[in-house]
Amino acid sequence: MKRAIQLLLLTLIIISSTPQHTHANNEELSQEEIFKGRMELYQKMETVTQVPWYYLAAADTYERGLRRAQRDRPREEGLISIYYEPEVWAGPINPNKEDTDPLSISLFNGVGLDGNGDGIASLSDDEDVLYTFANYLEQYGFDEEDFRIALWDYYQREQSVSIIHGHATVYEHFGNLDLDDHAFPIPLNHNYSYKNTWGDRRGWGGRRIHEGTDIFAGYNVPVRATAYGKVEVKGWNMYGGWRIGIRDLDNIYHYYAHLSGFEKGIEEGSIVSPGDVIGYCGSSGYGKPGTQGKFPPHLHYGMYRDNGYTEWSFDPFPSLKSWERKAYQDRKKKK
Ligand SMILES: [Zn+2]
Repeated sequence: MKRAIQLLLLTLIIISSTPQHTHANNEELSQEEIFKGRMELYQKMETVTQVPWYYLAAADTYERGLRRAQRDRPREEGLISIYYEPEVWAGPINPNKEDTDPLSISLFNGVGLDGNGDGIASLSDDEDVLYTFANYLEQYGFDEEDFRIALWDYYQREQSVSIIHGHATVYEHFGNLDLDDHAFPIPLNHNYSYKNTWGDRRGWGGRRIHEGTDIFAGYNVPVRATAYGKVEVKGWNMYGGWRIGIRDLDNIYHYYAHLSGFEKGIEEGSIVSPGDVIGYCGSSGYGKPGTQGKFPPHLHYGMYRDNGYTEWSFDPFPSLKSWERKAYQDRKKKK
């Protein structure tokens, strides 16, 4: 009965919406059109399944990051990045791995569903893929705890649950998908300097390589968030001193270390925008809590990417350069 109501709803939505390709070719669209198209899909599925759009957006965004980070995952062709392996979609013992018939797919225990009432359940149809995922979440219920449990059963990995849950809070907070902007961590009107020190040997803490860029600046120069995201970690770390970790929507963890202190109101769970002050430059670290002054004050800035299995650091220097360049251009425009 419930399924019948959903199909009816879907049909009504399809009839009422303007004609459009359900499988948009993402290379022909502007960034704005992509966000708009995605939001329409998320909201359509929210109407049908009651699963909040920001849950769908969060999981889809996480999977987009995985597609960028994993070589064996194909790039998405449409707007939605949620990925099903063909044998999962069609059913493990289905002789036809490209099956798009909802009936035989379900007969072979495949997960693929027809999301737009065209009688076809296709892996390359955004609405079918998103509906299949929303339908999965729907069976767990609609509150935050239900969502976490559904994600746990799906990914079997606490880190994935935590990242997607974080994405959902960020999307719910801002109410839109256009959250790609970045900022340079140090305001341009302060003196600072940095060079590429990626992979240098470090002097303290044994044989570790330098996983980040050091930006030298004076004590208490403001340190700003470089991306939209959620504060995942705040506190003392033996190496990093007073440090903050922020997770952005590309599944990247931004690590800010050696701070002299934190900005008031910044806590674990806080949601930040690029340019928000999160703390102040210092020389904390390399010892027990409160240790400082063992090296000149600087911001140690690191970036770590999650690929669905593990997290690894990559060189933040090129990103810093491009955000800095953009900041100078924007300042020029204002003059
Ligand atoms: Zn450093």
